[in-house]
Amino acid sequence: MCIFCKIINHEIPSSVVYEDDDVLAILDISQVTYGHTLVMPKKHVRNVLEADEETVLKCMAAAKKLAARIVTNTGASGVNILTNCGESAGQSVDHLHFHIIPRYDENDCIDITFNESPKQDLDEVLKKICG
Ligand code: 5GP
Ligand code: ZN
Repeated sequence: MCIFCKIINHEIPSSVVYEDDDVLAILDISQVTYGHTLVMPKKHVRNVLEADEETVLKCMAAAKKLAARIVTNTGASGVNILTNCGESAGQSVDHLHFHIIPRYDENDCIDITFNESPKQDLDEVLKKICG
């Protein structure tokens, strides 16, 4: 059983922010910023690509509501909501989860920067994706 399934089954303790029949939200143990929260389905599914649409929508609906509450109650000035999918994208726990990462003007321990990459031929990219 994966570590998040153990948390969902209360075999491992966690700080529960929100829970319903389908979704659990807990404080991330690493707290990359103050209030960093993980939203996950209770059903085990590896990641967003493997999840059915209903599961993703339930998580995202909860994440949207929780993000608003977290931003209001922490005084954050912004928030990142993201999911890492696959090892190359930084996924370390193979149970779908969405990070809610409140952002502050100071003391942020996260840097999400879109660096410049070599220019791509957009027509070629489009053809590859859309066929
Ligand atoms: P990923 O790297 O897969 O996108 O994110 C996994 C997250 O789960 C990490 O931010 C990590 O800190 C968190 N995490 C891993 N193990 C535990 C745990 O036992 N309890 C809690 N609350 N968070 C965990
Ligand atoms: Zn699991």
